[in-house]
Amino acid sequence: MPDDELLVHNWNTEAGLPRTLPAKVHFWDETLRDGEQTPGVYFSVEEKVELAKAIDSLGVSIMDCGIPAVSAKELESVRQIAHLGLKARVLAAARTVRSDIDACLKTDAPECSPFIAASPVHLKYKLKLTEDEAVERAVDAVQYAKDHGLKVTFVTEDTVRADLDFVGRINNAAIEAGASRILYCDTVGVATPPMLTWWFREVRKRIRLRGAEEGVHFHNDFGMATANCLAAIESGIPVINTTLAGLGERSGNAPFDEVVMALELLYGHKTGVDIGKIYEVTKRVEELSGFPVAVSKPITGYNAFTHESGIHTDGVIKHTLTYEPIQAESLRRTRRFVFGKHTGARAVEARLQEHKLSATKEQVQSIVNEIKDKTETHTKHEVRKFIEHYRDWDENHKGVAPREFWAMAAKAGVKVPRELLEGTKRERSTGQL
Ligand code: MN
Repeated sequence: MPDDELLVHNWNTEAGLPRTLPAKVHFWDETLRDGEQTPGVYFSVEEKVELAKAIDSLGVSIMDCGIPAVSAKELESVRQIAHLGLKARVLAAARTVRSDIDACLKTDAPECSPFIAASPVHLKYKLKLTEDEAVERAVDAVQYAKDHGLKVTFVTEDTVRADLDFVGRINNAAIEAGASRILYCDTVGVATPPMLTWWFREVRKRIRLRGAEEGVHFHNDFGMATANCLAAIESGIPVINTTLAGLGERSGNAPFDEVVMALELLYGHKTGVDIGKIYEVTKRVEELSGFPVAVSKPITGYNAFTHESGIHTDGVIKHTLTYEPIQAESLRRTRRFVFGKHTGARAVEARLQEHKLSATKEQVQSIVNEIKDKTETHTKHEVRKFIEHYRDWDENHKGVAPREFWAMAAKAGVKVPRELLEGTKRERSTGQL
């Protein structure tokens, strides 16, 4: 890290931009609920309990542990987590129906989050409800949960594509019915930071919070989830939904690591999160979800602290701030230099020096030449094998494999054609519309 001398400017803080950050940003972790809804991901009761303890140790404030109405095992997971005595508030999710809230009550979780869709497309086609009916359901669920002693977060799905007046109306009704927190969702990841700045202003003209806390739940379909969380925080929203490794439906939720590190390093805002643990816990989530962290993912991706090119390697060896905006040590990660086509002499010298070996200029150059030659004439055999293996896993082993599905259908008495049972007919999707 640099000494007192100014080596780089951070105009994010130095420019004096107008911001109204909340005094404390509360992370609401969604790894065990939305994260588990990542296609192909499943956590056992024991795994959920292990992950809940690990995520709690990071310093999140709230943890959505699942929808107890989904299954007996799901209910049991949430129940066990609720009895762990974690620092984070344990929350169970529910549709706005009483039986879902009854399932939440059986877990002893102190909080619940009844959700209902708010956008016209969801109301008309998915739920087949009028706005009035949706409000009625919301009020009934919130009241019912509140009357049974739960702290209630009222959640509107697809909030940012809904009619503004309706967002105001349904949230006001939920707050009046006893919700002490409301959650705005960009369920399909279409918001952008400047739009949100406007949207929060418009929505707040229509909602009487009466002390209720606001939170956001953002998806990453346009790669905007992290930026959108920051826009929400800049607008004073204190509760931010995130997942470890950015797990979640489709392209995932806002990744915890990115929002935390952006706040800490770009905004100079202390989050209270144990940063040194983020990588370790993310790796455990990767192992248990079977969902590899993307190579190029910021912070926790495989390449985040890896360099190959000669110019970058040389710069980083001279001063890490040249090409590393985040110091690997803070995350307990290690910097890595990969030898390849773009390698220069400095990386070779550094590797030799690490082992206290000396070499002449000519010897170093000869190694560099050989590295370049070797990478440029590499066969792609290993790479191809790896990609094929991954595609096979993605197409044939994610969740229930197609052949397993057809075996189940046959077992249930459906007359399934032989080529489907034998897997000789190639299938990529069972949900084409
Ligand atoms: Mn979601």
